[in-house]
Amino acid sequence: RYHNDVEDMKGKIRVFCRIKPLFPPEITMKDKRFKISPLGLLKLNISDHEQEVKSFSFDRVFSPLDDQKTVYDDVRSLVQSTLDGYNVCIWAYGQTGSGKTHTMIGDQMNPGIAPRAFDQIFTYIKENSQKWDHSVSASMLEIYQDKLIDLFRNEPLPRAEILKDSQGYMVVPGACVKQISAADELSKLFEEGIRSQHKGRTKMNSVSSRSHLVLSVLIESKSKLSGAKLKGKLNLIDLAGSERARKTGATGSTLKEAAFINKSLFALGEVISSLAAGSAHIPYRNSKLTTLMQDSLGGNSKTLFFINVSSAACNLDETISSLMYGTRVK
Ligand code: ADP
Ligand code: MG
Repeated sequence: RYHNDVEDMKGKIRVFCRIKPLFPPEITMKDKRFKISPLGLLKLNISDHEQEVKSFSFDRVFSPLDDQKTVYDDVRSLVQSTLDGYNVCIWAYGQTGSGKTHTMIGDQMNPGIAPRAFDQIFTYIKENSQKWDHSVSASMLEIYQDKLIDLFRNEPLPRAEILKDSQGYMVVPGACVKQISAADELSKLFEEGIRSQHKGRTKMNSVSSRSHLVLSVLIESKSKLSGAKLKGKLNLIDLAGSERARKTGATGSTLKEAAFINKSLFALGEVISSLAAGSAHIPYRNSKLTTLMQDSLGGNSKTLFFINVSSAACNLDETISSLMYGTRVK
């Protein structure tokens, strides 16, 4: 049974599935009924005529009725881990329009994981300021067609190498790292960064994101009493849409975008499944995305995947493909 024991999750990969509510015009179309069991089992009738049911197993499944707070209640302990000195990454995977950005970022009315995590981090820092000195810094990168773009400066990083520092942290020389002193400061920087994120246009969503967004928040703490030091990193990744190129009517540069996206999502799946299988060789270097995240995937770090899906019948193929990806990384 799912529980919140953080220690239990060390080096583990957890996969949550979130089903998006239907909105017009989907609402007038057919939908696919999901059956959700409290144990995280998701059953989906994949055919109209035969009773062909596919089951997928997750650590937790959120229904269209579960709100942002309900979702965050299951993320909170993981954010606390970063304050306790762990590296954490939280990913949102799914086709365009499936609710990735809603889950990771949300909006003013319904804030998602990022703004809630910023609040949690700075509330904790304030509450513990008598015993600990904390230093928080952040960077925000976009990976578009295997190229890195610094979203704090809104400019490409020309010879963007990704290096490993003496402590094993991945660093991108030249990328802007900002010192942060308050949650709303970080939220504001983040919002500005999102506005400058590369936007492509596809038939499925007029301003869909064709790039990966990676926000990293590094928290360094030093005990005022013992001098003990902790260092933890929270990575929030809003992945590019996972839909296959043919469905979006892609041509030319859009097709090239899709090829890069497919390649990096495949490389990510390979890394996660080799970690899960306990392989000796983990193929981090097969994509920019996995190279960048190397310090937060595997080892002592904690990984949470959101598989975001739609229940609209017209999205069935992509929904099954996302659910299968989720089962594969588990
Ligand atoms: P993606 O980032 O995967 O392309 P979005 O997060 O932009 O998808 O979601 C598409 C639309 O659906 C947005 O308008 C978003 O606000 C809305 N939406 C997605 N998930 C939910 C949800 N669980 N509850 C309410 N609205 C949602
Ligand atoms: Mg999005």
